[in-house]
Amino acid sequence: MHPVILAGLVAPAGVLAFAGLVWFAFGAPWAIGALAIGGGGIVASHLRHLVLLQRWAESALETPVPEGRGSWRIGFSALHRRVRLRTAYQRDLAHTIERFQSAAEAIPDGMVVLDAANRIRWANARALAHLGLDLARDAGRPLLNLVRQPEVVRYLEAGDYNDAVAVDSQRAPGVALSIQVVPFGMDEKLLISRDITRLESVARMRRDFIANVSHELKTPLTVVSGFLETLQELELEPRQRARYLQLMSDQARSMERLVNDLLTLSALESEQDPSVEAPFAVAPLLLELSAEAKALADGQHEIALDPGDPATVTGSRDELASAFGNLVSNAIRYTPAGGAISLSWRAAENGDGLFSVADTGIGIAAEHIPRLTERFYRVDRSRSRATGGTGLGLAIVKHVLLRHQAVLAVKSTPGEGSTFTVRIPARRVAWRASEPVAAAAADAPPAAATSS
Ligand code: ADP
Repeated sequence: MHPVILAGLVAPAGVLAFAGLVWFAFGAPWAIGALAIGGGGIVASHLRHLVLLQRWAESALETPVPEGRGSWRIGFSALHRRVRLRTAYQRDLAHTIERFQSAAEAIPDGMVVLDAANRIRWANARALAHLGLDLARDAGRPLLNLVRQPEVVRYLEAGDYNDAVAVDSQRAPGVALSIQVVPFGMDEKLLISRDITRLESVARMRRDFIANVSHELKTPLTVVSGFLETLQELELEPRQRARYLQLMSDQARSMERLVNDLLTLSALESEQDPSVEAPFAVAPLLLELSAEAKALADGQHEIALDPGDPATVTGSRDELASAFGNLVSNAIRYTPAGGAISLSWRAAENGDGLFSVADTGIGIAAEHIPRLTERFYRVDRSRSRATGGTGLGLAIVKHVLLRHQAVLAVKSTPGEGSTFTVRIPARRVAWRASEPVAAAAADAPPAAATSS
């Protein structure tokens, strides 16, 4: 027999037994009275439990299940167990949803859940920022009432979600977004927004770079092929022929310089650390640079060298020599004949090493200074070309310095001259104040020592 029926029979059986005893002791009328009182008590108890159940069912969700007596105890405790399980299940579910939402918030992309009518159901903080939405205000509203860019409208309405669409953010000027819709569930959609500003600018830089390189190569190539045609078609005088050959060879050299600089740049960009990490004496390098400067200036400029305190620098000597050499060659190329160039090395107050190249040349207007290290950025294009510039010298300098955690500072006044200063961090510089410069200079290779 079911335990509830068994428990339910206990009270009526008790009443019947009691009435039987009363009959035996006091006669039938008393027994009927006892039956009526006992039966009434049982009915009252059932009614009380029914009322308790009804009140509980209508109360707040968290109200505990009431205590039952007699046969109701079994039913109520089963109900109690069920409610406990359900509460635990709901807690787990809430926890899972919370974890899902915090995972969705941690995703670097924006996510908006849309229903079949493109109404916003939910969105993470990044999507709200990307699309300028406010979930409290906009939940339930159609996305296209809020995001009105024609590209997004067309994309959502066309229903072809194989590719993403690129749009400018309507919130933040200059921010590029990629929007992609992923259908899921019953006609629902997940709209993913991604900030592609950096990707776009890298793609633009790559396009500009290719266009620049092609342009830089095209000019000398056109000249060379033009002269080649002339040489093939015309009988020229030996002097004119020699002149054309000289011009072709100049153009070939300029292409060679460009290709060499491109190769240097790409080698520098492919790794972050210097190719070598070894200490080298600065003084011999300064002497080499000053000798190179004199050779380049060809007597047209005054070259001065202030070698400062002797020191060794840890890093790639070749890379730093090429960076410093670029600064020296620029100083000469952008300083008219009769000008002065001075190279100097000194210690900053915090122990950093400062290498400076100062010239009395054409100078640079302030607005150009922040862009000088961009590839192919030139202030004076024709002067750069005429003096054999590739437009890549300062880009190479920038990369070499980056690899040595060094920085470049430029001070310039148009018409008066410029000073380019490289600051090498103190941890790469060992100052040897007691050692005379001449002793350090003795390490210099013979070519540098004699040519100065
Ligand atoms: P380039 O091969 O054209 O010299 P760089 O990258 O070395 O390329 O320099 C970029 C531009 O910076 C140059 O075209 C020039 O306009 C300017 N510049 C660099 N150094 C100097 C300087 N010492 N004086 C004036 N202008 C300079």
